[in-house]
Amino acid sequence: MKPEQDNEAPCPLGLPLTARCLHCRYLLRGLVKPVCPECGRRFDPEDSLTYYNESINLWRRIWGAPPPKWHQYLICGIALVVLLDISSPGNLAFLWPCGLVLILGISVVDYGLRCTFRSKDTPNPDAASQLPTKRKNAWLVTPICLVIMLGIVLFPWPFWLRFQISKHAFEQKVKEVVDQGPMPSLELDVWLGSMHVESVYELAPGVVFFRTGSCDLFDSCGVVFLRNGTTINTNSLEILSPLGGNWHEAVMPFN
Ligand SMILES: [Zn+2]
Repeated sequence: MKPEQDNEAPCPLGLPLTARCLHCRYLLRGLVKPVCPECGRRFDPEDSLTYYNESINLWRRIWGAPPPKWHQYLICGIALVVLLDISSPGNLAFLWPCGLVLILGISVVDYGLRCTFRSKDTPNPDAASQLPTKRKNAWLVTPICLVIMLGIVLFPWPFWLRFQISKHAFEQKVKEVVDQGPMPSLELDVWLGSMHVESVYELAPGVVFFRTGSCDLFDSCGVVFLRNGTTINTNSLEILSPLGGNWHEAVMPFN
């Protein structure tokens, strides 16, 4: 018969009193480290799937666990796609709103359920300090991604940042276009810094539009250089957020 601890022993890891080792069924009550002293198997006090407890039903065992790897990879993958998509106007403009909705959905359903059941299964807050760092970090991935995504809604910083990195190349191209004199359009399909530019239009003296993609079936998205004091026809160009200096995000409607 296996040796077991005193039934009245405290439970410093915050485990349920009836928790047992998954492998050898040793009673885990009273332990100060998340390792079974009988067989050496590690367990996570915050993850009810890593120990056996007949008083916890399967539903709570599954949903009380920290977000698994698939959850973390999925959230990070979608966040990365959203960041890349929003960092250059046009092309797959539908992608980032879909990504945002997906992340919100996963957070509310999967993460929300886990948070709800987690609080029921870990009455002892000191248990968190005993967790392996990886398991603790699993709880952080979703809120961090959510904060980053909400930040994008308030200010599209990935686009701002990518343009700032590429700004020098854009300014060189403006010089070239102005030096070559008036022209209706110049097909390019090149990279300027870190941004892909499909074509350049000199709409008026001192107004140069760089098309980075399509906002929808007809309109072009991109950035525009506006020389100080230049007025533009709002039918030919819609100015959006400023990007610093003479630069703005802009939409060129189909004419
Ligand atoms: Zn064991």
